[in-house]
Amino acid sequence: MPERDPNIRKKDFEQVNCGYTQSEMLKEAKRCLQCQKPLCIHGCPVGINIPEFVRYLSNNNPKQAVIVLKQKNNLPAVCSRVCPQENQCEKFCILAKKNESVSIGNLERYAADTTARDDLNDVIINKKDIKIAIVGSGPAGLACGGDLLKMGYNVTVYESLHNAGGVLRYGIPKFRLPKDVLDLELYNLKKLGIKIILNTFIGRTKTIKELFDEGYGAIFIATGAGLPIFPKISGENLNHIYSANEFLVRVNLMHSFDFPNYDTPIYKARNVVVIGGGNTAMDAARTALRLGAKNVKLVYRKTENEMPARKEERIHAKEEGVEFITSTNPLRFIGNEKRFVKAIECMKTELGEVDNLGRRYLSKIIGSDYIIETDMVILALGLHPNPTLPSLVDGLIVDSHGYIITDDSLMTSLPGIFAGGDIIGGATVIEAMGMGKKAAEGIKKYLKNN
Ligand SMILES: Cc1cc2nc3c(=O)[nH]c(=O)nc-3n(C[C@H](O)[C@H](O)[C@H](O)COP(=O)(O)OP(=O)(O)OC[C@H]3O[C@@H](n4cnc5c(N)ncnc54)[C@H](O)[C@@H]3O)c2cc1C
Repeated sequence: MPERDPNIRKKDFEQVNCGYTQSEMLKEAKRCLQCQKPLCIHGCPVGINIPEFVRYLSNNNPKQAVIVLKQKNNLPAVCSRVCPQENQCEKFCILAKKNESVSIGNLERYAADTTARDDLNDVIINKKDIKIAIVGSGPAGLACGGDLLKMGYNVTVYESLHNAGGVLRYGIPKFRLPKDVLDLELYNLKKLGIKIILNTFIGRTKTIKELFDEGYGAIFIATGAGLPIFPKISGENLNHIYSANEFLVRVNLMHSFDFPNYDTPIYKARNVVVIGGGNTAMDAARTALRLGAKNVKLVYRKTENEMPARKEERIHAKEEGVEFITSTNPLRFIGNEKRFVKAIECMKTELGEVDNLGRRYLSKIIGSDYIIETDMVILALGLHPNPTLPSLVDGLIVDSHGYIITDDSLMTSLPGIFAGGDIIGGATVIEAMGMGKKAAEGIKKYLKNN
């Protein structure tokens, strides 16, 4: 996939990957061996018939290709851009053995983008007079809602923020996922019949009991994981230390990069340190560069091999100038007399023996302390499930980390209330979507039996 020059793209928020031309698409699609027993399908958490959509593309028929994609995935333009394909479908491609896997994600993007404005929605037959409420408009909620619509139910999605999409809207920056791509996918779902009600925090603006009183037959909770984890070390409350969530929400959802045209300020630092090694850390580091930082360092406690971020994001971050400082743990944040962060005391680490669960111990190297100077720190150490709604529903059982507990059909401890996505412990967009689809099946069965 052709990409924009790192020295140019790091100064703006435009998309990094340019997309295939028709001839590039045809060349790539024709590499697919159309295996008799395709393993790639098993690598896809929603089970897309990959050889079939690729075959349509190799015949230059993106419309039919996207119809195949949409049978299993109502957000193909999004997933093609953010799915970790190298660990999913592409990992199981027979050509991966020679390191030449078909670029399934890039082909999916071509099919979705070239047909984005075509009216390819299913016609809904068999409409039922039953209403279902979905709480949260992220990928889990949208996948569940899309499938329930196709089954004939009336679906209303409640979203606490002023714009829909969950992390796709407020977390993933537009240089990876342009917001007009998300808007088009949402437009197609709305045309299919999904109703999205914004600015409504379920639990506070309206309770779960009130939803049932309004006649909803079942409720799907897909409120995600947005509660930042802090390192619990000295100085973490100093000024100019942000959680990655707050930093990214300010930029992506509240458009602070365009202050004062938009009313949200953000501190534009010269020297930024991001702590973490996942997709969130990469997004925060690359966003800080685009806001004008001259030096962005990424501090991670293990080696680059252990980083959970997608390989492509790591490569892009390095190409754009983000400096990786690995095997390093922060010990404390140091502030100036006005309590603004000015440095981080760190210590080097090393990976030790493997324990009986296959994890490697991490030990600190005594005497290896050193100082990194900085004017801003962004903490990207992971996220816990959003606790507010579960804490407001009597009888809704959560585990010790706050994840809602469900049975195999994704029903919670309360009849008629289902849950899925990051609020029960997902980690990726496509996993959240897979759970949304599974919950839709669970809700259908529940309504049939009740
Ligand atoms: C910065 C970042 C980058 C990421 N990058 C990738 C990536 O490249 N690839 C990938 O596969 N995954 C990525 N992920 C993970 C992925 O985005 C999540 O796993 C996925 O979005 C989870 O979907 P969800 O629907 O469960 O929750 P979310 O996307 O979190 O959506 C939950 C929605 O519920 C709303 N909500 C919460 N409480 C209430 C309430 N009480 N009432 C009404 N609405 C409520 C929230 O406002 C939100 O809109 C990333 C995550 C982050 C944070």
